[in-house]
Amino acid sequence: MKNLEETQLSENTDKIQSMADLLRSGTTLTNLSCPACSSPLFRLKNKDLWCEQCKKKVITVKGDEQIEETKRLTTLGLLESTLLRKIQEINDRIHNETDLEELRRLSLVMSTLLENLERARKMGRYRT
Ligand SMILES: [Zn+2]
Repeated sequence: MKNLEETQLSENTDKIQSMADLLRSGTTLTNLSCPACSSPLFRLKNKDLWCEQCKKKVITVKGDEQIEETKRLTTLGLLESTLLRKIQEINDRIHNETDLEELRRLSLVMSTLLENLERARKMGRYRT
């Protein structure tokens, strides 16, 4: 049976081993620390922050990068709702329009709006 010291030693070795594994898998060490346990945080390939000590993702709004990310997602959300509103407007106009030339023009606008909406949604999905 192991004594306490040996147990702690092997736990530490395991910890170092798993950190080494993380780094090998493309994860980078950041200069941020876990708000729960103060361990250094890792940045996963999908940009999430990871605490190896707590074995969980860390959501922090302290880092500039995180604030930028939140801003980016808010902007995308606003863009998406603007596009949706415009699409609704154009849709109503198409519905009531009888002039073929005007319909053609509205259809072009609609398809551009739809493309932009798709793009905005793809960008927004990047993180979630
Ligand atoms: Zn932690």
